[in-house]
Amino acid sequence: MNLAQKVSSSAVALLATLAALLIMTNPSAQPAPNGRAYAEQLHAPRSLIVPVFGVSPAQLDDNWGDARSQGRAHAGIDIMAPQGVAVLAAVDGRIVKFFDSARGGTTIYQFDEAERFVYYYAHLSGRARGLGEGQDVRRGDVIGYVGASGNATTPHLHFEIQRLGPERHWWVAESRNPYPLLQSGRAPE
Ligand SMILES: [Zn+2]
Repeated sequence: MNLAQKVSSSAVALLATLAALLIMTNPSAQPAPNGRAYAEQLHAPRSLIVPVFGVSPAQLDDNWGDARSQGRAHAGIDIMAPQGVAVLAAVDGRIVKFFDSARGGTTIYQFDEAERFVYYYAHLSGRARGLGEGQDVRRGDVIGYVGASGNATTPHLHFEIQRLGPERHWWVAESRNPYPLLQSGRAPE
């Protein structure tokens, strides 16, 4: 191997390393973890899963109802996880709305199959590539990635369960505490 060949082969090796690093650090380029298999494995007989990959019910804190700024009460629970970890659909259902706001950041609203409850996922760093409004999802499907968008100061998933009214408006609903439901794996009633 002459000098020119050596230089070009090490350049190729360097490029390959850089490409591998890029794939490892860019969540949207990662192969999505198989959240559905993970859901079946951990919670086969249950109907609701913790919507962050790798987080067990025992790791959750019940911070629903905690005081927040301007006299508001915390309408969901905060699930702490590193930036970029996969956010999973908590139940079978349908993506109804992608919404971006100053408070929630990048968010997703999902209905369950019976359209009785809306599930809200906030502060995402991004949504799963190819996911769209109106799309059906199964429990455990990757729908986005943990982030700190909106008014979040550290990466976490803010997760809410809200009872829909008869008009089934995703923006008008009544808060339920997700914590006991995630502990038991039971769907809200
Ligand atoms: Zn929160």
